[in-house]
Amino acid sequence: MVTTTLNTAKSEEIFAAAQKLMPGGVNSPVRAFKSVGGQPIVFDRVKGAYIWDVDGNQYIDYVGTWGPAICGHAHPDVLQALKEALEKGTSFGAPCYLENVLAEMVIDAVPSVEMVRFVNSGTEACMAVLRLIRAFTGRDKIIKFEGCYHGHADMFLVKAGSGVATLGLPDSPGVPKSTTANTLTAPYNDLEAVKALFAENPDQIAGVILEPVVGNAGFIAPDVGFLEGLRVLTQENGALLVFDEVMTGFRIAYGGAQEKFGVTPDLTTMGKVIGGGLPVGAYGGRRDIMQMVAPAGPMYQAGTLSGNPLAMTAGIKTLELLQRPGTYEQLDRITKKLSDGLLQIAQETGHAACGGQISGMFGFFFTEGPVHNYEDAKKSDTAKFGRFHRGMLEHGVYLAPSQFEAGFTSLAHTDEDIDRTLAAAREVMSNL
Ligand SMILES: *Cc1c(COP(=O)(O)O)cnc(C)c1O
Repeated sequence: MVTTTLNTAKSEEIFAAAQKLMPGGVNSPVRAFKSVGGQPIVFDRVKGAYIWDVDGNQYIDYVGTWGPAICGHAHPDVLQALKEALEKGTSFGAPCYLENVLAEMVIDAVPSVEMVRFVNSGTEACMAVLRLIRAFTGRDKIIKFEGCYHGHADMFLVKAGSGVATLGLPDSPGVPKSTTANTLTAPYNDLEAVKALFAENPDQIAGVILEPVVGNAGFIAPDVGFLEGLRVLTQENGALLVFDEVMTGFRIAYGGAQEKFGVTPDLTTMGKVIGGGLPVGAYGGRRDIMQMVAPAGPMYQAGTLSGNPLAMTAGIKTLELLQRPGTYEQLDRITKKLSDGLLQIAQETGHAACGGQISGMFGFFFTEGPVHNYEDAKKSDTAKFGRFHRGMLEHGVYLAPSQFEAGFTSLAHTDEDIDRTLAAAREVMSNL
């Protein structure tokens, strides 16, 4: 399958019109392809491991709607469950039995979670958890890590990853200094820096929040001892540890990074996979802390559409599919084949590259490496990545349109899909 001349006339026409209707033509910045150049493609439909654009081109997809499509797009079981749920209505704004079902599944799966609150996005989950750690500790300051993304709330738009990294926004205008004054930052994988922040701010730090495996500065794994070290430091300083598992939850293991690495935080945020492609976020953790959330306790947080039956249904069915034996072994095997293959091809074609994967999450940088933090990641040849991205697109492979985003596989990706992807990569890298 070598389609070197891609016809994207309809995509271009629709995107040109979109730019007059919506800022940048999109409803989320990275979609606009700014950092890789060229025009974004406009999707028409998705199924399994594939995307079809409005011009009828087919691509193997490694974005998976940024993670949720872990069972493959439009899985027939999820669609069937949604059709049945739809007949009963789309939103109740009142208690619904399906909330219990998903809550129980999340509590059973994720080691830190004894109680959970559902919201509508990862951003919302992170905003709420921040309020909660401040309410519980009576302290205002937080520590986050450079290149980690926790949604677009003001307090987190300091040295944030994802679109902020991609577009090189220093911090966003419109974020008052007073809002971020209590947000302290440290380089990822740097325990000494965290130790120093605790020493400089005694009894003032409410908690430490991080992506336990980074996906929003590209893929960066925690060094041995980093997560364990944060667990000890937070405990020693009366602060809470929060794992933002919006990306890693139910992705790198059924119980998330905390299961994979055996480190249990106090609180966890989730999103992406638990919504199975519908808008869901969640935060949960120790019962004594969660009891502070209204109406059980005084910390206010609410949502008109939170826990709505359609979103709960997609989440429940997706988690059921993930519980089947061999799921994470399969994701790991197929993704390792892809990741190892890409690195080998880069080496054979003379490109400096590094990368890695855990289960169905992977990353690849055009730099010698190793990449331990965002500073290292920024050494990547992003212009080269842009050309690679465009070349892969022309060969029918849809990669995240930024060097600073992780990639995702699904249970629908076959060995043949990986072989085709690697064949495309060999051709593209030979001509970069
Ligand atoms: C995607 C993401 C978010 C934000 O979630 P949205 O649903 O896009 O608001 C927060 N944290 C992490 C780690 C993410 O990957």
